[in-house]
Amino acid sequence: MKRTAIVTGGTRGIGAAISLALKSAGHTVVANYAGNDDAANAFSAETGIAVVKFDVGDYNACVAGLAAAEDKAGAPADILVNNAGITRDGMFHKMTPEQWRDVIRVDLDSLFNMTRPLIDGMRERGWGRIVNISSINGQKGQMGQVNYSTAKAGVIGFTKALAQETARKGITVNCVTPGYINTEMVAAVPEKVLEGIIAGIPVGRLGEAGEIGALVAYLCGEDAGFITGSTLTINGGQYMV
Ligand code: NDP
Repeated sequence: MKRTAIVTGGTRGIGAAISLALKSAGHTVVANYAGNDDAANAFSAETGIAVVKFDVGDYNACVAGLAAAEDKAGAPADILVNNAGITRDGMFHKMTPEQWRDVIRVDLDSLFNMTRPLIDGMRERGWGRIVNISSINGQKGQMGQVNYSTAKAGVIGFTKALAQETARKGITVNCVTPGYINTEMVAAVPEKVLEGIIAGIPVGRLGEAGEIGALVAYLCGEDAGFITGSTLTINGGQYMV
């Protein structure tokens, strides 16, 4: 069945692949982004996917942005993918309050800001799919990423608690924890360092954004109604939980 889907940070990297996979599955997709107009407009022109700019760290901006997104789609959102995320890395003893706050607001507060305005409609209609993008580093912790690991572990807790609250309403809530994915961010890592990273991945390569997209699209489908509260690891065997 054709649904309306909103993907945060859906114009670049993993989010763009998720937007495309949901579109291929037949859904009407609206992709959110923060400020890179050139990338967003190029993505929209290339794919035909509508884009809406707003900051997922700001509750009021999300309420207004979601209304604009649903307006563009012409229907209320039944699928929400909370993908937008940032890093502000640094060792904890050097981490500034800004580094901490920026990551918590974009990577964790955003889940409240985006999901809270949509949840009533999903409950009323008796159907919904919420997929949250966490990270391998939210499961195992990562040196230099106390802020990011905290936020991404919080995403898992959010998923499990909300899944319990909404299960009887036909709404599933799951999270996906990618390992190292072949995005611009990872491509910028020096070759020697990257070789070391790949050596630690049993599958012997980086993941592809399209592989995350395919998993998310499955979780958002009609067939996935019995999967909820799950944390799906997709990391080439790098960390097995
Ligand atoms: P990118 O940096 O490639 O893209 C991030 C996207 O999020 C962009 O569309 C960006 O918009 C948007 N964004 C950033 N901040 C905000 C904000 N405040 N409000 C709205 N949109 C925002 O990210 P990746 O594709 O690498 O990562 C996507 C998700 O996957 C993140 O949650 C990340 O933590 C997670 N992840 C990534 C891994 C990887 O290997 N890349 C591994 C594990 C998890 P704009 O274009 O305007 O800047």
